[in-house]
Amino acid sequence: MDNGRIVRINGPLVVADNMRNAQMYEVVEVGEPRLIGEITRIEGDRAFIQVYEDTSGIKPNEPVYRTGAPLSIELGPGLIGKIFDGLQRPLDSIKELTKSPFIARGIKVPSIDRKTKWHFVPKVKKGDKVEGGSIIGIVNETPLVEHRILVPPYVHGTLKEVVAEGDYTVEDPIAIVDMNGDEVPVKLMQKWPVRIPRPFKEKLEPTEPLLTGTRVLDTIFPIAKGGTAAIPGPFGSGKTVTLQSLAKWSAAKIVIYVGCGERGNEMTDELRQFPSLKDPWTGRPLLERTILVANTSNMPVAAREASIYVGITMAEYFRDQGYDTLLVADSTSRWAEALRDLGGRMEEMPAEEGFPSYLPSRLAEYYERAGRVKTIGNPERFGSVTVASAVSPPGGDFTEPVTSQTLRFVKVFWPLDVSLAQARHYPAINWLQGFSAYVDLVANWWNTNVDPKWREMRDMMVRTLIREDELRQIVRLVGPESLAEKDKLILETARLIKEAFLKQNAYDDIDAFSSPQKQARIMRLIYLFNTYASKLVERGIPTKKIVDSMGQLLPEIIRSKAAIKNDELNRYDELERKLITVFENLEKEAGT
Ligand code: ADP
Repeated sequence: MDNGRIVRINGPLVVADNMRNAQMYEVVEVGEPRLIGEITRIEGDRAFIQVYEDTSGIKPNEPVYRTGAPLSIELGPGLIGKIFDGLQRPLDSIKELTKSPFIARGIKVPSIDRKTKWHFVPKVKKGDKVEGGSIIGIVNETPLVEHRILVPPYVHGTLKEVVAEGDYTVEDPIAIVDMNGDEVPVKLMQKWPVRIPRPFKEKLEPTEPLLTGTRVLDTIFPIAKGGTAAIPGPFGSGKTVTLQSLAKWSAAKIVIYVGCGERGNEMTDELRQFPSLKDPWTGRPLLERTILVANTSNMPVAAREASIYVGITMAEYFRDQGYDTLLVADSTSRWAEALRDLGGRMEEMPAEEGFPSYLPSRLAEYYERAGRVKTIGNPERFGSVTVASAVSPPGGDFTEPVTSQTLRFVKVFWPLDVSLAQARHYPAINWLQGFSAYVDLVANWWNTNVDPKWREMRDMMVRTLIREDELRQIVRLVGPESLAEKDKLILETARLIKEAFLKQNAYDDIDAFSSPQKQARIMRLIYLFNTYASKLVERGIPTKKIVDSMGQLLPEIIRSKAAIKNDELNRYDELERKLITVFENLEKEAGT
C-alpha cells in the first residue's frame, strides 16, 4: 500500500491525497508522529481523516500510512479493572488522564498486557466440534469475574489441539481449530472492529428487570436487562450520582463506564472515586467487575467518538460470555458535539442546530447495540447489554436536538429536574415527564417474584402522582378549600409517595440501595393507607381526621427507608399492623 500525503490540516480533520483504494473507516497513521486516525470520507483519491490525537505541529506533505484495517480493540483477560483511553490504550492510573499534552501522541502500546500469565482451565477436548462463540475454557480474571474464553466469531471446525490446564499469556495459542483444512489458532485474546456489532443468534424480548436498587427507577420507570435509558439533566441535577449509583448497585455482572467528558479534567473527578468504591454484594473492590474508558486531556474531542464504540464493543464481548453487562456513558451530548465539530470541518450540510444530518442514525445504531440475546456458540447461553447514557442539554432544554433525537431511540427516559434538585428531592427524576416502555414486560417478573400486587400498587402510585399535579394547578387557581375530601386525600397520598418512596439518599448506608422486596413493602404501606383511607373518606370521614389519627405513624413510615435494612424486612410487618389498627379503630368509630 502506498503512503498518502497530507494536503490540509484543520484541527482533528486531516485531508490526504494519494489515497486511492482506501476504505471507509480504515485506520491510518498520520504524519511523522504517526497519529491515529480513521477515514471518514473518500472523494476520488482524497481521504478525509478524523484524527484521534492532537494534530498541532503536523504539516502538509507529511506522509499518511495506511493500515488496511478498521479500528479494532483487543478482547481477553486483562480488561477488568483497567482504565483505557478512547483508543483502548491502557492508562496506569487516573492521574494520567490529566497529564500535559504531547506525551502520548502516536504511542502504540498493546491494550492488554502481553506478559501476564493467566491460569487457563480448558472446558473442551481434542476432537470436539466448536463454532464461533463456543466456550473453550475459563480464566478466573478477578475474584468477581470468570472470564470465559470464546472461539472468535466466524471460526468453526474441529479442535485439533487444546492445551492442558496451565498458565498462558494472551498471545499463546491455547487451541487449534481445523477449519475446512486450515489450522486456526485460538488465543486467550481476540480482536474486533469497534464499529461492527458482534454477532448473536437471536435478540430476545427484554422481560427481566435490571434491578438498580433505586426505587423510582425500578418501580416507576423500570429498565430491563438489554434495555436502553437516557438520563438528561442540566448541570448539578444529579447525572453523575445517578450513573455512579447504577455502576455500583445495578445487578449487572460487568459495568463499563465511558466518560466522554469535557476533556480529561471533567472526568477525573468522577473516575477518581472508582478505586475506592466497593461492590456492595461482596465487599470486594468495585473495579474487580468494572472497566473504565475515558479520554485523556491531550486527546481531541474526536476521540469521544472512538470511546463510545470501544465501550460498547467490550460490553458485547462480555455479553457473548453469557453475562449481563451495563454500559454507562457520560455524556452522549459531548459525543454529539464532537460529531458536530467534525461535520463542520468537513463542510457538511448541517441539520438541526449545526448537528450533522446523520446524528439520528448514529444514535440509533448505538442504542441498537443494546439488547438481550441468545449468544452464538456452545453451550447455549444468554447475555445482555444494557445502555444508560447521560445527556447534557444546554440550559436544560429537552427540545434541543441531542435530547429529542435520543428520545426516539431509548425505551426509558429518566429526566432530571433542576427544581426538584433545588428542593433537595433526590433522585431529581421528574415523575411526570419520565417514562419506561418496559413496565408491561417486567410486571410479570415483579408479580411472580416479589409481590402479586406489584403492578396494581405501582399503577396506583403513578395515577396518584398525575392526579396530584392536576389538583395542584386547581389549588393554585382557586385555593385548597375548594378541593373535595377525596382530592385532599390524593394530596396526602402523593406526599407519602414522594417522602417515603421516591426520595432516596444515595449517600445513606441503608437507603442507598433498596432490594425489590423492600421497595414492595414500602409501596404496600402506601397502598394500604390509600385503600383504607379512600373507603373512610367515601363514608364522610375528613382526610384531616384520618391523618391526625395516624399520629407518628406516617413519619415512621417515611423514616423506614433509612431505618429498616434490606435483611430485616419483617420489621415492616409491625408497621403494617399498626397501620391496620389505626384504620380499624377509625372504622369502629364511624360505626360499622
Ligand atoms: P450533574 O452530574 O448532573 O452535574 P451531580 O450528579 O454531580 O450532578 O449531582 C449534584 C449534587 O446533587 C451531588 O453532589 C449531590 O449532593 C446531590 N445529589 C444528586 N443525586 C443525589 C442522590 N440520589 N442522593 C443524594 N444527593 C444527591
